[in-house]
Amino acid sequence: MAGESEMRDDLTHTADAPSVVDLRSDTVTRPTEAMYARMRTAPLGDDGLDADPTARALEETAAAMLGKAAGLFVPSCTMGNLLAILAQVQRSEQILLEAQAHMLNTERGAATLTGAFLYGVAGTDGAMDLDRLEDALSPNASPLRTAMIALETSHNAAGGTVLPPAHMAAVADLARARGIPVHLDGARLFNAATHLGVAPADLAVHVDTVSLCLSKGLSAPVGAVLAGDGPVIAAARRLRKMIGGTQRQVGIMAAAGLEAITVMGARLAEDHDRARQLSEGLNALRPRLSATMPQTNIVQVDLGRTGRDSARWITDLDALGIRTRPLGGQRLRLVTHRHIAAVDIDRAVAAFRTCLDAA
Ligand SMILES: *Cc1c(COP(=O)(O)O)cnc(C)c1O
Repeated sequence: MAGESEMRDDLTHTADAPSVVDLRSDTVTRPTEAMYARMRTAPLGDDGLDADPTARALEETAAAMLGKAAGLFVPSCTMGNLLAILAQVQRSEQILLEAQAHMLNTERGAATLTGAFLYGVAGTDGAMDLDRLEDALSPNASPLRTAMIALETSHNAAGGTVLPPAHMAAVADLARARGIPVHLDGARLFNAATHLGVAPADLAVHVDTVSLCLSKGLSAPVGAVLAGDGPVIAAARRLRKMIGGTQRQVGIMAAAGLEAITVMGARLAEDHDRARQLSEGLNALRPRLSATMPQTNIVQVDLGRTGRDSARWITDLDALGIRTRPLGGQRLRLVTHRHIAAVDIDRAVAAFRTCLDAA
């Protein structure tokens, strides 16, 4: 539970009217007071010249928490995933990943920079079908050499589902038998670890490189970390400079990131409780609409029987102070986070009911 002082802190920095319940994304979370305090006092250097000490501290701490030898602070998780590819995959090589993966759905424009082909393998709840993965790995399947397999947990488009560790281990076995590195898009890895009751490193042990987003539920204002072995991260550090991702007194942001990974992971279970509360409240409105049962902090709402599309729902809910985002024309995606309390969930469910009754 957020303490009273924490809630007052949040209000101090609230840009929206306090009456707005913003379920669009966990990226809307604002820095905590402790983050601002660390940012004000962080030792700084020039990270493009001879290293920023706070950025180095974040990189070392994050790498240790992820069980890897080295880490690299990057401006976004998108850049972390891009650098993992640039550092390990050559042009005209292939990356295999689940067909709904963020790296394929949202970040596939990276292919214009990497020259690597992304091939989606059909899966369930974010987990690739292992037989289909093995087929795709067959030398007869494609003239392209597979140079990376990428996983995602929690899986964004699959409704925040968590990959079973046994699945991650099975993919790692298939990859290692062929000398192929495994990358984990772990934008919400701490949510996955929270759901399973394990440490993030217990999941990252199955992969060679992992990216972690600091600016989602962990509440840092910006940034992500890419972690892996020493040579790969050294290569990624050189490539980061090439693509303009090296920043100067970046310790100001790294300081917030340090607070994010060392303190903020512990409260993610609260977001998962809120998401479950939201799902249960919405499913009480069945059969007019239905919601996924979340493992973490993302709930998908099926609007197919309401006779109104997602754009209309977003407008109607917005008028009641509830902000949401579409997932195609017939679904909404709701995300819980630090600024969403139990009373906000009650308000959101009531707003859905009001909209249904007004139809
Ligand atoms: C948000 C997200 C990203 C991208 O993170 P940014 O820091 O916004 O670039 C990558 N992968 C997944 C699964 C995400 O949810």
